[in-house]
Amino acid sequence: MLKKTIKNILFACRFQKSFLYWILSNRRYLKNTISGMRGKYPRECPNCGYIGHFTAFGYPPRFDAKCPECGSLERHRLFLLLERKKNLLAGVGSVLHFAPEPIIEKYLRQKIPSYISADLYKSGVDRKEDIENISLPAASVDAVFCSHVLEHVNDIQALQEIHRILKPGGRLIAMVPICEGWDKTYENPEIVSPAARDLHFGQHDHVRCYGQDFPQRLADAGFETAAYTAPPEDAARYGLWRGEKVFAGTRV
Ligand SMILES: [Zn+2]
Repeated sequence: MLKKTIKNILFACRFQKSFLYWILSNRRYLKNTISGMRGKYPRECPNCGYIGHFTAFGYPPRFDAKCPECGSLERHRLFLLLERKKNLLAGVGSVLHFAPEPIIEKYLRQKIPSYISADLYKSGVDRKEDIENISLPAASVDAVFCSHVLEHVNDIQALQEIHRILKPGGRLIAMVPICEGWDKTYENPEIVSPAARDLHFGQHDHVRCYGQDFPQRLADAGFETAAYTAPPEDAARYGLWRGEKVFAGTRV
């Protein structure tokens, strides 16, 4: 008993010593990280008009990511900016919105006459829908919006279903994380555990990492696709991911 207690005390001392050493040797890193959580530079929110510091968001934290006023993140602000500049949803009378983000939902509900939110797991949506097996009839909606959804699912099946329910000429607005340095999408059906997916694809519930071939995957599913991004000055002004893209596919 005494031997075990002494051993525990010695271990605690050694741990505290190494922890204290780590804090002291990383104090500048810690100071910059803590101060960065409250925002580094003033930014502007195109959703609510807030001008000032954005807070950090995510794990590990991304600095200047979240508008403290409305909660918009980088990808929400990018879509809203591009939608207004490029009229991505011009002429759309009905839209099906998967995994609805409140900020985008609010915008789409105001803009599109017939708006339907959909999710397989989330409560409070208009329809419980599996993107790989949608219960809507063929050629029944003008547009589908799905942001950061396709990297979680069987995208070939999902794109086939989206193509089926869109009217001819209908529009798919899609956003996904992309590793621009890779020509081809990285996926491996043998990687299934949450830890292995986190290690290989960057998040425990991602099933692939898209590469530069993402537009080709949309083309293979029957979409003529255009990619839009914001200029560098806007990325700085509005707190966007540099070079992130919004894909607008037209159902052929
Ligand atoms: Zn805002």
